Amino acid sequence: MSTSSSPADPLAPQDGWFGSFGGRYVPETLVAALDALAVAWEQASQDQSFLDDFDRLLVHSVGRPTPISRAPRLTEAAGGGEIVLKREDLAHTGAHKINNTFGQVLLARRMGKHRIIAETGAGQHGVATATACAQFGMTCEVYMGAEDVRRQSLNVFRMRLLGATVHEVEDGSRTLKDATNAAMRDWMGSVESTHYILGSVVGPHPFPLIVRSLQSVIGREARQQCIDQFGRLPDHVVACVGGGSNAAGIFHPFLNDPNVALLGVEAGGQGDKPGQHAAPLCFGQPGVLHGSRSYVLQDQDGQTQDVHSCSAGLDYPGVGPEHAWWKELGRATYERVDDQAALEAFSVLSKLEGILPALESSHAIAAAMRLASTRPKDELILVNLSGRGDKDVLEARTLLEQ
Ligand SMILES: *Cc1c(COP(=O)(O)O)cnc(C)c1O
Repeated sequence: MSTSSSPADPLAPQDGWFGSFGGRYVPETLVAALDALAVAWEQASQDQSFLDDFDRLLVHSVGRPTPISRAPRLTEAAGGGEIVLKREDLAHTGAHKINNTFGQVLLARRMGKHRIIAETGAGQHGVATATACAQFGMTCEVYMGAEDVRRQSLNVFRMRLLGATVHEVEDGSRTLKDATNAAMRDWMGSVESTHYILGSVVGPHPFPLIVRSLQSVIGREARQQCIDQFGRLPDHVVACVGGGSNAAGIFHPFLNDPNVALLGVEAGGQGDKPGQHAAPLCFGQPGVLHGSRSYVLQDQDGQTQDVHSCSAGLDYPGVGPEHAWWKELGRATYERVDDQAALEAFSVLSKLEGILPALESSHAIAAAMRLASTRPKDELILVNLSGRGDKDVLEARTLLEQ
């Protein structure tokens, strides 16, 4: 796990900054807590017994390593480069989010904190957090917008089954952005006893660094699996980007492989006008949201814009600061896939490979097929299949039968 900022590595962050992105835009009351968290993380990530505990959890509780799978029928349908899938859909609870929550629960235990809070949008991060807390006997309270509670009632029930308390947030648009604000407010008053598990590579330093480091297991495994099974590195790595944690996790171990192109895929929603999509790296401007500086979808007055995507996990107006930096450096490129194309990819992967992808991951599949069709057959395209689609079948039925 590389977290230190070696001056020899131009792609290593410095003191919580990724170039001019990141940082810490928070009220005074949180500064000491974030400092303490940064120190605890620095120590933990260099402590072999912490790393061994984390590895054991990844094996015995998450089910790692997840395989990489060839996708011959999908590849043939796309026509061109070979598509290979990194199967985070096979991780416990059905997505990559569990890698982060187990890691942060271990960190909280090490810091002597036994109450955990989290924000959640669709409920996937809430379920992953509640799962890890159940295993460690920790108190778990999850903030969720009232609108999301209504739309995702099954995940609310799941969290309660796992022993968590779900707080409905009635502020603002009553969605993820408001739930995140509420969780931060809780933390300001409870930081002595409580650890806040952020669900993506967003928020103030050190969260983007912690979450990316914990998720980098995806890329470390996939890189080695490509070498073992194909005798080479992939030519392209493709991942969907909501907050950016599954993409950062698979990209990071390839950063210093200059011949591996990195492609992040944002939610194109229903069109390019403000409010129709959730694509801050494609359409946003640098700004501050939830404690760090990155690309944000905002209007001329700096008000955060409404966002739309068919997939709840991508429906966020901001993005992790490290992605903003990779975009600026040209190390990764970012494009968008709209609802329609994502839904088609959802059906195509189901029919051709027998895998129901999450609607989030379907954006990456659609982009990978588009890319494959322009590349020669001897190129290898690794796609992060960030989660499984069982959670989305009702939504997909509604959309596909329209
Ligand atoms: C939450 C989620 C995402 C989006 O979050 P990132 O932090 O961008 O990875 C993507 N895929 C799945 C399956 C998710 O649950």
